Amino acid sequence: MRISEESIASLRNLFADSNLKVVVVSHTNPDGDAIGSSLALREILVGLGHEVTCVVPNKYPYFLDWMTGVENIAVFKTDSERVAAAVAAADIIICADMSRLSRLEQLSDVISANTTAKRVLIDHHLSPDETFDVMVSYPDSSSTAFLVYTLIVGMFGTEAISREMAEQLYVGMMTDTGNFSFSFLTPELYRAVAVLAETGIDIPQIHNNVYNSFTEGRARLFGYVINRKMKTLMKGTVAYMSLTEEEMRRFWFQQGDSEGFVNYPLTIKKMKMSAMFIETHDFIRVSLRSRGKYDVDVFARRYFNGGGHKNAAGGKSFLSMEETIRHYMEAVKEFAAEGGLS
Ligand code: 5GP
Ligand code: MN
Repeated sequence: MRISEESIASLRNLFADSNLKVVVVSHTNPDGDAIGSSLALREILVGLGHEVTCVVPNKYPYFLDWMTGVENIAVFKTDSERVAAAVAAADIIICADMSRLSRLEQLSDVISANTTAKRVLIDHHLSPDETFDVMVSYPDSSSTAFLVYTLIVGMFGTEAISREMAEQLYVGMMTDTGNFSFSFLTPELYRAVAVLAETGIDIPQIHNNVYNSFTEGRARLFGYVINRKMKTLMKGTVAYMSLTEEEMRRFWFQQGDSEGFVNYPLTIKKMKMSAMFIETHDFIRVSLRSRGKYDVDVFARRYFNGGGHKNAAGGKSFLSMEETIRHYMEAVKEFAAEGGLS
């Protein structure tokens, strides 16, 4: 990944005016990359003298509560008036870690209502909407946080990276790369991590805060899901799991508790693809993971109105759980017949 001089120049121009009102918005069910990238953008822009509001459609998971600045994030679901006011007043709206406004669900209408703000995309998902004034879209970046890092350094040099920013960016890089184990682990990424480490961030502490801060209910739910709910297809090379609202209640489910479950079937050597179906009030949220050449972005777009990355994607189903699973089984069969799993 090489960020073009043009991207850097257009962002520099955009933020050269003083005292701009900026909204940084990220996707539904915000993860470590969404929150880390948003907070780091906020730090740098506040430092430049702008007024910045970070906005997300719904609450971030509780294992990110410790992050510096997280209390400034406006959650649309519980604070819609504050969000609407900030969006209406915005001169610039930055969409971070999301490629389509549809990823904002109901919040997308509020964003669309502001027709005068300049729109900026900073993202690493495939197939972005083409409606942005400035597009920083690099699907071969391992995280949005790495993009934000590269932009900040490109504009202001490594001295501009504060310790707080380093911590926020590290969370984004760490979570989106599965603690530096997925694809796009470039030498540049490790150089970036070296710069972050030089600010004095406590990497083992950050790791503990994010990965070892769950509830007992989550540990038990994990055991239950893997033992009782994981089913396999295609001679054990495709897996799926499901969670109903009733099951989640039984384990005192909190937002974020199922984070990472979908990856687990891929610890089985011959597994190619894994799916997780989570029931919500309005629909079933679909999470998909794969290894190597098997492309769940294609699968999610085709069968679940979604998308994402080649090895990590998501979507939605408006059918019942049973019908969703049946649809998945049919889809897997068709996908395999067309060579998608060979
Ligand atoms: P997760 O399974 O962790 O929720 O999401 C995995 C990846 O797929 C993320 O990069 C996420 O942004 C993307 N993704 C999840 N749900 C959707 C969706 O409904 N639509 C699209 N286009 N992408 C999604
Ligand atoms: Mn991301």
